[in-house]
Amino acid sequence: MKPVFDPKPPVIVATSRGEGFPVGRVFCIGRNYAAHAREMGHDPDREPPFFFTKWAETVVQAGTITMPPETDDYQFEAELVVAIHKGGRNIRPADAQAHIYGYACGLDMTRRDLQAEAKKKGRPWDVAKNVEQSAPIGLIHPVEDLPDMTLGGITLTQNGELRQSGDLSDMIWPVVDVIAYISRFYTLEAGDLIYTGTPEGVGPVRAGDTLSVMIAGLSDLNVTVGERQ
Ligand code: MN
Repeated sequence: MKPVFDPKPPVIVATSRGEGFPVGRVFCIGRNYAAHAREMGHDPDREPPFFFTKWAETVVQAGTITMPPETDDYQFEAELVVAIHKGGRNIRPADAQAHIYGYACGLDMTRRDLQAEAKKKGRPWDVAKNVEQSAPIGLIHPVEDLPDMTLGGITLTQNGELRQSGDLSDMIWPVVDVIAYISRFYTLEAGDLIYTGTPEGVGPVRAGDTLSVMIAGLSDLNVTVGERQ
């Protein structure tokens, strides 16, 4: 039947090979680096992993994001992003590698003030996390072109100053365990992205800031923060 209006085009991000990766859903893991869990006031040894989701439309590859409304504390979280090209459910960690197309640098931008309020009141995180333009991503590199991504530096600079510095080997839940965990609750699909958590050092941005996420082996992600519109 004829649609009432034209459907939105799919979100497609570029790979390092010049191809397009159609984005399905976006899963984000919380508190996956012990030092970040501690800076947020949690004990990393006692809490199981958890995840939340963002719309595909929050994923942007353009160089500029704008400050969102309704926050005075919009914060960066540098993260390794996993791109899934083969679906499945109840995936075993030992089989998870076959589901990974590649990796990219990413940012899980967060309205920290609204997140803190939600935590206090036991409410969902949607307005804190599922924010328009809140999931910037760099070029996706296929695994065949990459070194072992279970270790290597992950850093973020803000206006050239080092803010976050960690190592992928510090993840409490490695990528294969994250895939196994999410696939217990959802049938993973080709196109799904997983933002795998952030190391310590998160902080607020202001309009005019430039953020750079660097992960060993991947193209840098460079983002400029524009004025609220
Ligand atoms: Mn995060």
